[in-house]
Amino acid sequence: MTTKSIKIEYTEYESVEQLSTDDKELLTLAMNASANAYSPYSKFKVGCAVRLANGTIVTGNNQENIAYPSGLCAERVALFSAVAQHPNIGITSIAIIAQNQDGKWCGASPCGACRQVIGEYESKSKNKIKIVLYQNDGNIVVFDGIDSLLPFRFSM
Ligand SMILES: [Zn+2]
Repeated sequence: MTTKSIKIEYTEYESVEQLSTDDKELLTLAMNASANAYSPYSKFKVGCAVRLANGTIVTGNNQENIAYPSGLCAERVALFSAVAQHPNIGITSIAIIAQNQDGKWCGASPCGACRQVIGEYESKSKNKIKIVLYQNDGNIVVFDGIDSLLPFRFSM
């Protein structure tokens, strides 16, 4: 028997201004995308922006439905849209942010299903996907790939 441990690494920034130009742009576009979320039930507007290897950016937001499971997270709206429109171009990064009912920016860490989808597209793209997450305290955390957010994900 062997007990093992997993180390999670990420970089924390104290403000959006500290991010690289590319990451700041991506997070800003995610902020903008959150405005168009369809979230009449949760009142929680999530915005997501996905950068492709050719520089194209595709955004998404959460789409809710009165039949709850029929809705979809902002991350998967953006990721599926990006890959549907640009099937042969890899994904390099993704940024996620939300605003609450009062319009205050807050964090929205991807759910397990979205993490699985990010992992799938890492495999498809053959590169790690940088993940930029706004946090409730205003800090931003950046992961250089999905491994730290979803170790032992489903794969075949
Ligand atoms: Zn999700």
